[in-house]
Amino acid sequence: MGSMKIIMKFGGSVLDDSSKINNVLKIIKSFKNVNDVKNDIICVVSALPGVTDKILSLTDLIMKGNRSAIMTFVDEMKFLHMNLIERTITNKALQFETKNLVSDILSEFCDILNGLVLISEITARSLDHMLSFGERLSAPIVCYSLRNSNLKSEYFTGKDIGIVTDSNFGEAQPLMDTTKLRVNSKILPLIQQDIIPVITGFIGADQHGRITTLGRSGSDYTATIIASCIDANEVYLWSDVNGLLTADPSIVDDAQVLDEISFAEAAEMVLFGAKYIHPRALEPVMDSNIPLKIRNAFNLSHPGTTIARDAKISKNLIKSIIAIRKTALLDVGGGGMVGSPGTAAIIFDTLAKNKVNIMMISQGPSESSISIVLNKDDLGKAITALELKLLGKVIKHLSVLDEVSIVTVVGSGMRGIKGIAGKIFTSVAKENINVIMIAQGSSELNLAFVVVDKDCEKAVKSLHKEFGLEKLDK
Ligand code: ASP
Ligand code: MG
Repeated sequence: MGSMKIIMKFGGSVLDDSSKINNVLKIIKSFKNVNDVKNDIICVVSALPGVTDKILSLTDLIMKGNRSAIMTFVDEMKFLHMNLIERTITNKALQFETKNLVSDILSEFCDILNGLVLISEITARSLDHMLSFGERLSAPIVCYSLRNSNLKSEYFTGKDIGIVTDSNFGEAQPLMDTTKLRVNSKILPLIQQDIIPVITGFIGADQHGRITTLGRSGSDYTATIIASCIDANEVYLWSDVNGLLTADPSIVDDAQVLDEISFAEAAEMVLFGAKYIHPRALEPVMDSNIPLKIRNAFNLSHPGTTIARDAKISKNLIKSIIAIRKTALLDVGGGGMVGSPGTAAIIFDTLAKNKVNIMMISQGPSESSISIVLNKDDLGKAITALELKLLGKVIKHLSVLDEVSIVTVVGSGMRGIKGIAGKIFTSVAKENINVIMIAQGSSELNLAFVVVDKDCEKAVKSLHKEFGLEKLDK
């Protein structure tokens, strides 16, 4: 039995070429035996890059009954995966076996797609079933590549390994107690025999055994769920980026990689749109205090970003400036709201029932209006719902700004420090930027404000400079 249990999730971008898979094998080997210590490695893999998006785009074709386009897609998938197998798995017998496995999975996929075309209908459940094939096709390739380099390995779907979720297709949540029991009883005997399990990310199954997915980028979540189940020592998310950044590099040229951040800070960054991690993925490891490392598989000398409970507070106080574009601001109000308990509840309930997610809220003590920021794509739904249900009754007016951005300043270093807000708003004022709305949680981990979108980049740049984030204190 090894001395450390390490979960390694490999994103699609590090798997789509034989040289990349060989690089992954090198990484796994280097972590497996460190000097005289043997560690247990558990792999979680994503679909090859672009595959999940392509599967999603089939929904349209299915609805239109476009069978020939779907068959073209199946051929494309066949070419992509078979080609990778041929170039990566050099042992002929193993290559033959992998091709057979992948070919069986593809023909099952093809049967399902044909059935769906016949009825020209897609449900959330059938979509999850379709989406599962991305990872189901990549996992055997990684498993057999390990065998090809003389390591013992077996592959599993999320369902096989015991991830049980609720039935919220498309965004399923694990039922952790059941999952823990099942995953442990599956994985422990494998690692005792020195077998490296290769597990499909992104997918699980509900209590009735129906395939579910955990939401986009769900492989990260699979990795942390498994880590928490087997009480792993570390989780690595391998992709082609160096780590989490002080700002979006397309806005700030000298954005820096953060070496260490706390779970709480990472949660703020993820919720506020940092791209690289599934928003829920932090929960399982945060609860069990397992460090999560974001590393670049193509830049092994770079230490990456470690997310851990006791990350140090940097002298910069602030860790990251985040911009969330494509948001809209709704201001709802009317005299009737003042002093009448339950108004906010009715407004939020109406939005919730229409599946509108609220990103930011603010209400002043005069209670005359509530400002709500939401994703621009949800704006139509939100306005219709509020107009139909509440306008003229609970609320008197509804005004909209549809080209706004949220700028969020994240860092636990600002907790209890005076003058941070002053510094932030002075800096944006110097740039002649008007601040439309402000919110700060009492945890003081983040301070967020809203500006018109055309001011967003200027605001981020000026704050990045103001807090000296181009020169991180390491
Ligand atoms: N393949 C899924 C996606 O693209 C899950 C993942 O890659 O993490 O969202
Ligand atoms: Mg992905």
